[in-house]
Amino acid sequence: MAERVLSPAESGDDDRFDRLFRPSSLDEYIGQSKHKENLKVFVEAARRRKEPLDHILFCGPPGLGKTTLAYILAKEMGVTLHSTSGPAVEHKGALAGLLTKLEANDLLFIDEIHRLTPAVEESLYPAIEAFQIDIMTGDGPYATTIQLALKPFTMVGATTRTGLLTAPLLSRFGYIVRLDYYPVEDLEKIILRSARLLEVPIDPAGARELAARSRGTPRVANRLLRRARDFAEVLGKGAITGAIARTTAERLEIDSAGLDEMDRRLLTVIIEHYDGGPVGIDTIAAALSEPRDTVEDVYEPFLLQQGFLGRTPRGRIATRKAYEHLGKPTPTPAQGDMFS
Ligand code: ADP
Repeated sequence: MAERVLSPAESGDDDRFDRLFRPSSLDEYIGQSKHKENLKVFVEAARRRKEPLDHILFCGPPGLGKTTLAYILAKEMGVTLHSTSGPAVEHKGALAGLLTKLEANDLLFIDEIHRLTPAVEESLYPAIEAFQIDIMTGDGPYATTIQLALKPFTMVGATTRTGLLTAPLLSRFGYIVRLDYYPVEDLEKIILRSARLLEVPIDPAGARELAARSRGTPRVANRLLRRARDFAEVLGKGAITGAIARTTAERLEIDSAGLDEMDRRLLTVIIEHYDGGPVGIDTIAAALSEPRDTVEDVYEPFLLQQGFLGRTPRGRIATRKAYEHLGKPTPTPAQGDMFS
């Protein structure tokens, strides 16, 4: 698949820039103020009691700042963050290895926590409830289970799919943070901050134009900024103006609503091949030659949030807004009941 500039998922040299752009305190973290204020209180309370933070889950589409928040919490608590992901913890032994390395009050960050295997997930329960793990020693008839005490720690989970978390795991988190897409004003601030870090001049019109086309996602905003810097250096005088930002978006085929070619293809498939829907997610994924997970995690949430796509029990439908945006004639009521 060609790299999508608008893909909220990490790719290419994002990793290096993610570290450069990553805010290191709650005060530097832009937006999401309700969650930020709550997290400040929890950090302060835990520090005063010299206890670990309660277990925390961050949910939301990729690129919205879940990993960033985990790093910030560790920093504000003055402890170490140990990072892993659901698929990386292949068996109970690997989990035990991670858990026994933790120092008092450390954070264990598990990205894509919905992808833990059931066996690993189960062995996590006593660890997060009572800070102990069961370890098997010996073989066959000599096998015994010993209980090992762990230092108190905080589990920080991140997931793009809360719906896939089992109820027992979900119930063990003391606080759940659901991150939503950022408003344009917040993305503007993120772009201005990142531009300062990159030392690239940008004017307010440039920042606003890029923010409006960032799919509500800080990672996308930072990526667009880097591409705009290239256009500014080569085609302009080095500064990102409104005109340079618009050229960047046009060259990358990002339209005025911030949709890219893949977004438009998804909507076009529903409109042209399936009469506007409803059509099942598997059919859409097959038509786009994309894995179903990618369609559900990456493309769909923004189209749903922006009202281009609707969900019905029988599948996805293209909304009137999608027809209008793509310049397609809206169907008459006789053709379908999708807007009624
Ligand atoms: P996620 O873990 O949700 O996929 P990340 O935490 O890796 O997302 O964030 C992606 C990028 O966006 C990082 O470079 C980070 O610096 C930036 N970012 C995310 N949220 C914010 C925010 N609230 N303020 C400033 N930068 C942010």
